[in-house]
Amino acid sequence: MYAVVDIETTGGYASGNNITEIAIFRFDGKEVIDSYHTLINPEQRIPSFITSLTGITTEMVEDAPTFSEVAQDILDFTEGCIFVAHNVNFDFTFLKQSFKTLDLSFERKKICTVRLSRKIFPKLPSYSLGNLCGSLNIEITDRHRAKGDAEATVKLLKLLLENDNEQFIDKSLHRNSRETLLPAHLPREQFDALPEEPGVYYFHNHKNKIIYVGKAINIKKRVVSHFSGKQNSQQSQRFMNEIYSVSFERCGSELVALLLESNEIKKHWPAYNRSQKRVVKNYCIYQYTDQQGYARLSVGLIQKFQQTILSFRTAIEARDFLMEAVHEHELCSRLCGLHKSSVLCKDALVSAPCKVCEQGEDSSRYNKKVSRAVLSFAEQQATLAIKQKGRTEEEFGIVLMESGKYLGYGFVPQDVQVSTFEEFKTYIHLYPDNQDVRSIIESYTYKADEASMMYF
Ligand SMILES: [Zn+2]
Repeated sequence: MYAVVDIETTGGYASGNNITEIAIFRFDGKEVIDSYHTLINPEQRIPSFITSLTGITTEMVEDAPTFSEVAQDILDFTEGCIFVAHNVNFDFTFLKQSFKTLDLSFERKKICTVRLSRKIFPKLPSYSLGNLCGSLNIEITDRHRAKGDAEATVKLLKLLLENDNEQFIDKSLHRNSRETLLPAHLPREQFDALPEEPGVYYFHNHKNKIIYVGKAINIKKRVVSHFSGKQNSQQSQRFMNEIYSVSFERCGSELVALLLESNEIKKHWPAYNRSQKRVVKNYCIYQYTDQQGYARLSVGLIQKFQQTILSFRTAIEARDFLMEAVHEHELCSRLCGLHKSSVLCKDALVSAPCKVCEQGEDSSRYNKKVSRAVLSFAEQQATLAIKQKGRTEEEFGIVLMESGKYLGYGFVPQDVQVSTFEEFKTYIHLYPDNQDVRSIIESYTYKADEASMMYF
């Protein structure tokens, strides 16, 4: 027995909104056996844009029963039935949420007439209930009212059952309950094809635009976790509805997946990544020229579009590094901002009197020392290859840093002998260098096994 359900609500997402109307048809596959219909007092105002869609006004539901008064009826009426709705997750999530506020659980087997229509009647221009009924010549009265829409869904289900030559309905009920967890527009074959390996995955919208990029140690498992979470916020329901396809890139290791993910987010700036982009604060040593013409080195937060000379995780690291450089290259610690607005250098590390503060060294001489120091910084930056697992047993992955700058990653066949950095370079794809990827590599090298790193 099927229970074909449609609800009307005060808004598009279950948290903060309530049900205003429900219609249920018990259908044995051939005929409607029984039906249930009631308006429900949502105990909140119905926004006018909802009223203009459904025709249900706040006044109409004022004297209707509340959900708690009809909850038992709904439980009884759907008991032992397969719960059917057009975009079943919407109706089911609302009901489940409403039962939950009464401390009642609501579990039913579900099928979704959107998903089944895509399989049984492929290549139709649209799968919204109205358009589908148009394409399939199903009469629909009282559109956007629970009874009218549920009645049309019964007729649609009947057509689906009659044309289900490949037993899609049976399969979706018996294979597992995951089917209805998938976003309504996502083809199951694409989900099935996801590998259980490290990599990056992409969700696309109906125009094939990337709307989310993520990285995972196990791509399939991670994608499932997007769909099995609570989908009752406005944002997550909209997100699920916008997903039309999923694609992926195998990476072999978590490090490469992190690097690719970072690059892809910067490149595509997907809508659903923007809201959760973490803020990474990093410090750097940067250079500028002051009004007297002196080259100044300074420690500060990394700014966008600013040319940084060296970057650090913390301000203390950056200052310590700069202090040593001041000592080694006979720079002026005042001009390097290492002590506050004092007139003369008093840094403990500077043993000799400061040539700028005490002897009035001119800017052209001083600036040459700064340039020499900056050049020496670059030499201290590591050139290394980090070895990682490949995408197959026949290869291994490599991540390359040259003079502290990220070059990119690639894969090298196991049977090839590579010994020089230049040789490694021929196997990689070049990617833009930035602070995010440097931080990813830095924290990897900090805790990684030394054996995976080759310095040149
Ligand atoms: Zn000085």
